[in-house]
Amino acid sequence: MIKTWSTPVLDENRREEPCALCGGRDFSVHLRCEGFRYVRCRQCSLVQMNPQPDVEAVKRRYSGEDYLEYELANEKSFLELGLLTLADAGFYQFESARGAAPGRALDVGCATGALLAELRKRGWQVEGVEVNGKQADYARRVRGLTVYGQPLEECSLLAGAYTLITASHLIEHLRRPRSFLAEARRLLAPGGRLFLTSPNIDGFQARLFAGRWRSAIFDHLYLFSVKTLTRLLEQEGFSVERIVTWGGLASGYAPRPVKFVFDRLAKRFGFGDVMVISSFHRCGL
Ligand SMILES: [Zn+2]
Repeated sequence: MIKTWSTPVLDENRREEPCALCGGRDFSVHLRCEGFRYVRCRQCSLVQMNPQPDVEAVKRRYSGEDYLEYELANEKSFLELGLLTLADAGFYQFESARGAAPGRALDVGCATGALLAELRKRGWQVEGVEVNGKQADYARRVRGLTVYGQPLEECSLLAGAYTLITASHLIEHLRRPRSFLAEARRLLAPGGRLFLTSPNIDGFQARLFAGRWRSAIFDHLYLFSVKTLTRLLEQEGFSVERIVTWGGLASGYAPRPVKFVFDRLAKRFGFGDVMVISSFHRCGL
């Protein structure tokens, strides 16, 4: 199993933290990886890396150049996948209901800005958030995008200004996913939508590969399931509208027709490798 690219394991300040979802401290070891491990909360089932790195250490991980190279090498396939994901989650219905001027969109963890450029073509007014300076610069310089270089909570953006907030493969990297969701809720306009994509710890591949699962990487501080991510969203005032999971078997592990069938079943029954959740906030339908 080839893992997703990640910052190599570093010697950082780490400490045991309570469960980020329920505050519990009763854990069982869930996945063992080289140099780190994940625990599962016995009370709410959230899987988190523990011990956790401190906030400053996490910031340092994203300051280098490696992420730009990785992103540029995969930009086209990431964009295609990102658009398919949004389609699955009902994005195009949401967009067409908004008419010719759909509104303001914010992509958090926008990398080189490929998705924002696509949304801009479709009539959205777009802005991005990207803490990796090299990628943010690239998005500004090459694509002429407005990109904020701090974590979302530090950007001081205008409350209720955004009709669309997307965050693909971001929330599992964050030290404080709850404060990110609280800020996303503050920024979302009435009637707006949040689309979150994240690996699914309850998926078939996670169960099969355990510590060798491609998403069990040093950069992923949380490994959510449909259940735990939904619960966190609901606690922060969101209502979930649609959940889709996809990806049944990793490429190369089965003949293509088998993979095809398995992938369809994964999507149908919710044991796919990655999930996307669309939600809105309760007071602003
Ligand atoms: Zn818990």
